[in-house]
Amino acid sequence: MDAGSSYLKLIKEVEASCKEANRAFDSVCVCAVSKTVGIDKVLEAYRAGALVFGENRPDALMEKHDQLPQATWHFIGNIQSRRIDDIVGRATLIHSVCAMRHVEKIDECAAALNIAQKVLVEVNVSGEETKSGISPREVLDFLHEAHAFSHVQICGFMTMAPQGDPAYAREVFEQLAYLKEFACSHADESVAKRITELSMGMSEDWHEALRAGATIIRVGRAIFSEEFSTNN
Ligand SMILES: *Cc1c(COP(=O)(O)O)cnc(C)c1O
Repeated sequence: MDAGSSYLKLIKEVEASCKEANRAFDSVCVCAVSKTVGIDKVLEAYRAGALVFGENRPDALMEKHDQLPQATWHFIGNIQSRRIDDIVGRATLIHSVCAMRHVEKIDECAAALNIAQKVLVEVNVSGEETKSGISPREVLDFLHEAHAFSHVQICGFMTMAPQGDPAYAREVFEQLAYLKEFACSHADESVAKRITELSMGMSEDWHEALRAGATIIRVGRAIFSEEFSTNN
């Protein structure tokens, strides 16, 4: 299947899952994670209607953004401070902010471009040592401190669930959704009113994430890998 057909198949499934979960289809953004493919595959998905793409490396983000500037690009990878100026402005949303030094540097770059950079705070809900993200306990302080940086707009939270255990993944997603509610009711009103997004769920677990309230699902292989789409 080409990436366009896989994308359309996924969209049908997302639509059905939304119905099942009693959610509006347009309450979920599908971020097509194109990190493993070239611009030809990106174009196949784009022609089928995909509008939002996710990249995890600054070089690939720059290259593909230049090749298809009319699409919306999200940055979902680990952030290195020295590459932040390549990401700010190109990425409409940065999913993976997890240190105040990121916020500081993003603010500086966004100020130079005279924009407000939208970001999500990555939270390590499961507490696995190999995963990045701040701990749930740190979220309120982080939001409070980041609020001082006027060119950074925190729009919500992102997490990665442990792989291979859907029930556990669901629990992690529900915890992130709870954390969003908690943050919205405990942060300053000016901070809380902007917190609307929950980026969670990938090819193997987006169904669980959607049921738990994801507003952005990040799907790579289900769109771009032949192998994945043949086996599922
Ligand atoms: C690669 C990646 C995805 C997509 O994963 P798939 O299993 O290919 O759907 C989602 N989020 C992040 C942060 C990733 O690095």
